[in-house]
Amino acid sequence: MLEQFARLNAKTASLKISGNPPLLDVTDLCGVLALLDEHHSWYIYAMIEQRRAHNMELLHKYIQQLVMQEMRKREFKSRKVKLMDFAYGVTKAALFAHFNPRGKCKVCNGLGFKAAKRCEHCNGKGTREYNWSEKVQYGFPHRRDLTRDWYRKSCGYYDQFIESILHEIAAELSEKLNKVRRQAIAYKRLESAVLFDDDL
Ligand SMILES: [Zn+2]
Repeated sequence: MLEQFARLNAKTASLKISGNPPLLDVTDLCGVLALLDEHHSWYIYAMIEQRRAHNMELLHKYIQQLVMQEMRKREFKSRKVKLMDFAYGVTKAALFAHFNPRGKCKVCNGLGFKAAKRCEHCNGKGTREYNWSEKVQYGFPHRRDLTRDWYRKSCGYYDQFIESILHEIAAELSEKLNKVRRQAIAYKRLESAVLFDDDL
């Protein structure tokens, strides 16, 4: 999915683009983004490194709101961190980990599965995960008193919550993109049928 969008941005250095001509053009891709709420655009622009910091900031604000809502719903309380700072920090840590993957999982070599079973080490994601203490450092850099155990117990649920929001955004983008792709393929078939059918 990302390759299609990465073509929009010549600066996307982290993605290798295959030599095949694109089936979808810029107009199609902009059409896909227009069908979805704007946080999908922030997600894709951050992924293809187009004004990444700015788009991650917008995504951060949006997700932080959802985290606050979830905290209220679950009547979350923290003795150590103000609720606003908690929502800010956990969102920052989870977003950072999502947008800066550290390469492949060592156990399954990035495949996400081993011997036809889902890799338990990376939970099928295939990426190398950040550990809890790295997340504390990233989300709460000025709080030396917070431990990785604290992150696991207090933030673990919300970390997963954010990750699932991000996966949902990616899945929705993928679904819309596939729909447009199927239409483009059908249109191409129709076009070549018109060109090559002698009866017409
Ligand atoms: Zn793995």
